[in-house]
Amino acid sequence: MTQEIEREFQANKIKRLPPSVVKDIELKNHARRLANLSPIKIKIRTCISCGALFESAGNRTCGCNTRSTGYIAGREII
Ligand SMILES: [Zn+2]
Repeated sequence: MTQEIEREFQANKIKRLPPSVVKDIELKNHARRLANLSPIKIKIRTCISCGALFESAGNRTCGCNTRSTGYIAGREII
């Protein structure tokens, strides 16, 4: 029940998703709802690479190492 408060409290330490990505997720969620799929949730995660808190829609890193790990269609290869 305190999750929202904690989220607000930590908000300035967290790397936020860019607005374009959030919008993309919203559009996908709208389509997913119509298709009776569960929506994509944005969660606060700790980056497995640098340890920073960040908003994630499934990624395991905050984007600090995207050039070194490589991405295919936005999905990390681990
Ligand atoms: Zn990172």
